[in-house]
Amino acid sequence: MSVRFRKLALIGIGLIGSSIALAARRQELAETIAISTRKPETLEEARDLHLGDIYTLDAAEAVRGADLVILCTPVGAYESIVKAIAPALEPGAILSDVGSVKAHVVGVVSPHVPPGVHFIAGHPIAGTEHSGPSAGFPELFTGRWCVLTPEPEVDPDQTERLAAFWRAMGSIVEVMDATHHDMVLAITSHIPHLIAYNIVGTVADLEADTKSEVIKFSASGFRDFTRIAASDPVMWRDVFLTNRDAVLEMLGRFNEDLSVLQRAVRTGDGAALEAMFTRTRAIRRSIISAGQETAAPDFGRPHEAPLAIPAADRGGEG
Ligand code: NAP
Repeated sequence: MSVRFRKLALIGIGLIGSSIALAARRQELAETIAISTRKPETLEEARDLHLGDIYTLDAAEAVRGADLVILCTPVGAYESIVKAIAPALEPGAILSDVGSVKAHVVGVVSPHVPPGVHFIAGHPIAGTEHSGPSAGFPELFTGRWCVLTPEPEVDPDQTERLAAFWRAMGSIVEVMDATHHDMVLAITSHIPHLIAYNIVGTVADLEADTKSEVIKFSASGFRDFTRIAASDPVMWRDVFLTNRDAVLEMLGRFNEDLSVLQRAVRTGDGAALEAMFTRTRAIRRSIISAGQETAAPDFGRPHEAPLAIPAADRGGEG
């Protein structure tokens, strides 16, 4: 089965869309790449970066004649985009997406998919906190999972064709049910983002002098939350609007566990705290052994030796 598509249409060309464009070009997975986005300036940026072959603000024009169409915009934009492109979708084409939630996407996209078009929702579990066409890089998907959530009626050969496309870009592909995906991602990705947004927001509300000290001493844990909390506001707004049930379910469990920790701190229950922290340390080690994280201390950040202090600044030598 050929992994190469005749025409790949990418609707939305931010971090994920541009990374697909670069990886697909590098691996020669499409003869032609058509790019469509909402704002003229974003389209021009994509053109300047040579991300594709065809550039248009008209999504229907981009998908005409395409045998693979991937929606790469925030999830909240999907319904209006699918309504606009549906009449131009070619029978036999695969329509997919990269959205971080899946049950909602299946619900809003499926009713508009014309007969003969294979709709297979997808989610590459790879990203950074940067956005826009210049944020992409072709190695983004290397060694990262890509989850596909086809409905039961989808032809398995088409799912395999799309899986082969993602594997060729370096992903490891897993097929699962959309609702199960949303539950797993709620706890592994969506709740951690909510916690990061919350803790950084709490600091933003602190009194001015305390806040400046937090920024000053931020290397001690807070800094790692700020990376996550710098993620795209529109994308994450849409994630919480469209994965509400799973997020609320997992948030309930999180709050229960937090109360247990709060009680252990209040009662000075050192054994409970140590047991919990030992369990969590083992989880990080298992993520490292699964190849999904670096074992380098402090995420591999450089820790150079301090520069020699000039004699004039040392004082007390005379
Ligand atoms: P991004 O860098 O902000 O890019 C979003 C793109 O969508 C931009 O090109 C934007 O272009 C375009 N767009 C926004 N609204 C649009 C509309 N109504 N019609 C047409 N184009 C529109 O976002 P991203 O990080 O690539 O995320 C895109 C998708 O990937 C999201 O669904 C997200 O859930 C998913 N995802 C993200 C990550 C991550 O870590 N970032 C990881 C996995 C999956 P304009 O400038 O023209 O508006």
